[in-house]
Parts: sequence; structure tokens; C-alpha cells
Amino acid sequence: MSVAFFANAAYIVAALLFILSLAGLSHHESSRTGLRFGMVGMAIALLATLWLTVGNLWGQANATLGIVILVVAVVIGAAIGLWRAKVVEMTGMPELIALLHSFVGLAAVLIGWNGALSTEEIAPELVGIHHAEVFIGVFIGAVTFTGSIVAFLKLSARISSKPLMLPGKNALNIGALVAFVLLTAWYVITPELGLLIAVTALALLLGWHLVASIGGGDMPVVVSMLNSYSGWAAAAAGFLLNNDLLIVTGALVGSSGAYLSYIMCRAMNRSFISVIAGGFGIEKPSAKGEEEEGEYRETDAASVAELLASADTVVITPGYGMAVAQAQYPVAELAHQLRAKGVNVRFGIHPVAGRLPGHMNVLLAEAKVPYDIVLEMDEVNDDFAETAVVLVIGANDTCNPAAAEDPSSPIAGMPVLRVWEADNVIVFKRSMASGYAGVQNPLFFRDNAAMLFGDAKERVEDIIKAL
Ligand code: NDP
Repeated sequence: MSVAFFANAAYIVAALLFILSLAGLSHHESSRTGLRFGMVGMAIALLATLWLTVGNLWGQANATLGIVILVVAVVIGAAIGLWRAKVVEMTGMPELIALLHSFVGLAAVLIGWNGALSTEEIAPELVGIHHAEVFIGVFIGAVTFTGSIVAFLKLSARISSKPLMLPGKNALNIGALVAFVLLTAWYVITPELGLLIAVTALALLLGWHLVASIGGGDMPVVVSMLNSYSGWAAAAAGFLLNNDLLIVTGALVGSSGAYLSYIMCRAMNRSFISVIAGGFGIEKPSAKGEEEEGEYRETDAASVAELLASADTVVITPGYGMAVAQAQYPVAELAHQLRAKGVNVRFGIHPVAGRLPGHMNVLLAEAKVPYDIVLEMDEVNDDFAETAVVLVIGANDTCNPAAAEDPSSPIAGMPVLRVWEADNVIVFKRSMASGYAGVQNPLFFRDNAAMLFGDAKERVEDIIKAL
């Protein structure tokens, strides 16, 4: 039996492990096992591909050079990957993921170009399909590449998270899609290099524009959408390389990413089509931005400890700032101590709190907060009116009343944690700065709200001491 036979058998095992991995990742309890399945599947896929490639090169001119280049590339890639994964902070994960998506996009572009320039004989009846595969692969890859780079720049705050509002932006996006369809048809009939250069440039610009047009509040959907695009780019590359595993894996990533984007759009009350089309139909938000709106009240750790000691119900709503401060451990300890005193303590988690889906759940699980007191936004929202104290720890956009009450706000319509309905709201943050969406939060100026300024971890530790 040939090397290709064994490699294909290994690919089927790897594909099954990837499916098991996705199934495992859909529940907290099984997520570690899911990750292990994914790691083993990827190791099998890599080894089989190496083996297959070495088998193909064997006996050809310059085989040794080819194998050395392959091994050196794998070792360098693996070393960089290991190093980045070890040093990345949890808060830096979204931008790292965006950067990794850009690599998948770039790889699809290069594979497409390689397919176009390759001198390999193609059966005459398949030539048209081959040209279409090249064109579509390069297009999806290039959109993913620049889109992911803009997402990386926005998520790492290297550029502003505000939406780029070019005049006629919707017409530009639609024009680019129409041009792509026409160019594809033209390329299938006459595969000229100029057309491939044109579609590459067009797709690079479109990817850039699509993501640049999306505001900070909608970035979570964009991240999962780019995840989906990177899957389709990999599947397109799989067709060109005739690699079944790449097709299956790409389709898994593409479809699960698209479904995640859809779920997040529903959770955020956004139109799926609008977000994948680069904020299509979203009007320019009103000028209302980061300016302060009235007087706020400041409090201190001792007063908050006193308030908590006399409270019967407490809800903690964590956000990105809890991750930055690494405050999850003292927060878990505070919850533990209050529960020991008989206080009903629960956590309310907004679907896009933090900077990646499930960010807060991961942090709280890390700090061993029991799953049964960690509630989704919809499970806790109706309870705020009967809650004595809400601790908003480093959250901002996810509990901004403007989303519910001000139709001209850039985050209007996004469901939020209705923390302002509680008797007392304590907001932990370092300043009056706005959240990721760049919108000021009227919650801070409400009569029942008080600001506890400083690093969230230090302030929570102060409260534990005062308790
Ligand atoms: P926000 O980003 O709106 O706000 C976080 C707040 O934390 C800031 O106002 C900041 O205020 C405060 N903060 C930062 N560091 C500290 C610290 N060390 N101690 C105390 N406070 C701190 O957070 P939310 O979680 O409420 O909202 C998430 C936002 O990110 C949404 O707009 C969402 O759309 C977006 N997003 C989410 C993604 C996801 O998948 N979950 C992906 C990409 C974007 P200050 O500087 O004054 O301390």
C-alpha cells in the first residue's frame, strides 16, 4: 500500500478528532478534552502531511534540499508558535487570533498564485474549474488577510476602534463584489495574469475596508466572521492542493465560525448581513462620544465593604478591565467570603464581555468560581431590580444604559446588563474613560451608582481586607 493511502487514512482520523474537538469545546466541562482531541488531530495531520510530502519528493532532483527546507520551515513555525502561545496574555488572545487568521488568508493567496503559475498538466475538462478555484481562493484569502490585519490593529489599539465612514461605502463594497464576479468569469475564459493581479488588489482593499468600517462594539462578530473566512480560505486551498483534510477542516472552521457570528449577532441585536457586509446600512452615529455627562459620586473600599456586609443579594458583572487587572482571583475570593456569610452572590456575564467570546467564563473558571452561580445575561437581567448591590468590575460597554435608551448611540440596540435597576451599583475602574466602543456611559452619573477608582484587583483586595 502506498504512502498516499496511509496519509489519507491518517487524514480521516485527524478530521474525526477535529469534529470531536469542536463537540468538546461546546461545554465548559468537556472543553479541555476537546482541546486535547484538537491537538492530537493536528499532530497526526502534520506528521501525515510531512510524510506524504517527503514521499512525493523522494527520488526527485533536489529532493534533499526540498526536505531540508520543509523541516526547517516546520521547526521555525513551531518554535514561534510555541513561544507566542506561552507568552501571550489572556487579554492579548483576540489580537493573536486575528493575526493567525491573517496567516491563513496569506497562505490561501500564495497557494492560489502557485496554482495559477504552476506548469502542472490539468485535464482539459477541469481547466475552467481550476481557474475558478484559483480566483476564488485568492479572493477569499486576500479579504481574510487584510481584514484580519485591520482587526489585529484595532484589537491591539494600534489604530482607533471607531468605524471608518467613507462616503458611499456600501456602493464601494457592492461594486467590489460585482467586479469580483465579472473578473472571475473573465479569468475562467481567458486566464491572464493581469486579471489575477487585479483581483488580488481588489480583495486586499475590500478586506481592509470591510473591517475598517466596523465600530468597536461590533468587533466580536468581526473576529468570529474572520475566523469563518479563514476556514473558507483553507477549504479553497484544499481544493487547489487536492487535499481532503484541508477541505474538511476548512469547512468545519468556516461553518462553525459563521454560526458563531450568527449567534453573536442575535445576542447583540445586530443584522448578520449588515455586519458581514462591513456595517452595511449602519448610519453614522451621532456625535455623542466620550464627553462626560454630569456629576458622579466616588466611594472607597471600606464603604463598599460595609454595603456588601449588609446586602442580601449581590450580582458581579465582570468585563475587560477584570481581565486586564487579573482580578478574577480576589473577585472569586470575595464571592466565596460573601457566600459564606449567607449572601446570595451570582455573576452576570454579557456575551461579548472582554475581548473574545467566553473570555469572562474562562477567567472565572480559572479562579474556580462554581459554574452554577455564573449566569448568562438573559438569565440575570430580570433579577437586577431585586438586587441590593451590583459590582461592575472593569465592565463598561456591556452595561451602558445608552444602548437601551438612546437610539442615536453607536451601540443602540445592543442588549446590555441592566445593572442600573439595582439598589446600588459600584463601578470599578481607573478613570472616567470610555469603554472599547468609545461611548461615554451614563450609568456612572446615576444617583444609585458610585465609582470605586483604581486597579480592580487592588480595590477588590482592599474590600476583602475591610470585610
Ligand atoms: P469595555 O472594554 O467596554 O470596558 C472595560 C473597562 O475596564 C474600561 O472602561 C476601563 O476603564 C476598565 N479597566 C481597564 N483596566 C482596568 C483595571 N486594571 N482595573 C479596573 N478597570 C479597568 O469592557 P466590556 O467587557 O464591558 O465590553 C467589551 C467591549 O469589547 C464591547 O464593546 C465589545 O463589543 C468589545 N469586544 C468584545 C469582544 C468579544 O468577543 N468579547 C471582541 C472585541 C471587542 P479605565 O480605563 O477607566 O480603567
